[in-house]
Amino acid sequence: MKKAVFLDRDGTLIKELKRKTRPFITAPREVRILPGVITACQKLQRAGYQLVMITNQSGIARGLFTVGQLQRINHHLRKQLAQKGVRLQAIYYCPHHPEGIRRRYRRKCRCRKPQPGLLRQAKKDLGIDLKRSIMIGDSWRDVQAGQRAGTRTILVLTGQGRASVKKLSRRERKKLDLIAPNMTQAGRWINRHLKS
Ligand SMILES: [Mg+2]
Ligand SMILES: [Zn+2]
Repeated sequence: MKKAVFLDRDGTLIKELKRKTRPFITAPREVRILPGVITACQKLQRAGYQLVMITNQSGIARGLFTVGQLQRINHHLRKQLAQKGVRLQAIYYCPHHPEGIRRRYRRKCRCRKPQPGLLRQAKKDLGIDLKRSIMIGDSWRDVQAGQRAGTRTILVLTGQGRASVKKLSRRERKKLDLIAPNMTQAGRWINRHLKS
């Protein structure tokens, strides 16, 4: 079975928009890959990890952008990474929200992180050994999803990272494998400490 690094998108791989009026990324040109991400991903890939993006995109349920827009954004990100030799094995997203305005996506699902649904789906589709895998994200939701699925977990302090530390329970914080300032340090830690 393969091992994977599961990567959150916003605040982990790419910069979040901090605008008050429209904080969601709705177009490919708004995609900015965070510093250190490319190198970290290249090294993880070389160490034998599949890279799988796992992202909550409730903006779809909220009517802020469409599935088509999301796919264009993700495709653009994938292309930018590929130009640097980084291959995203798969992308999984949750379009739902329990209070969404678009009926089709308004539900309490099992895929919105902190639920582990998307990680479990990836395991099934790609044959991934979750115990040898790591979830990296900037939100407490990423950490909880990883812990529920049985992966290791790293919280990065980019994006919402600093606020997220406070939202974790003591137990969750203790179970966390690492709090890393950014992807560079997260990648380094994995390659140094996880040998199998
Ligand atoms: Mg995030
Ligand atoms: Zn969902």
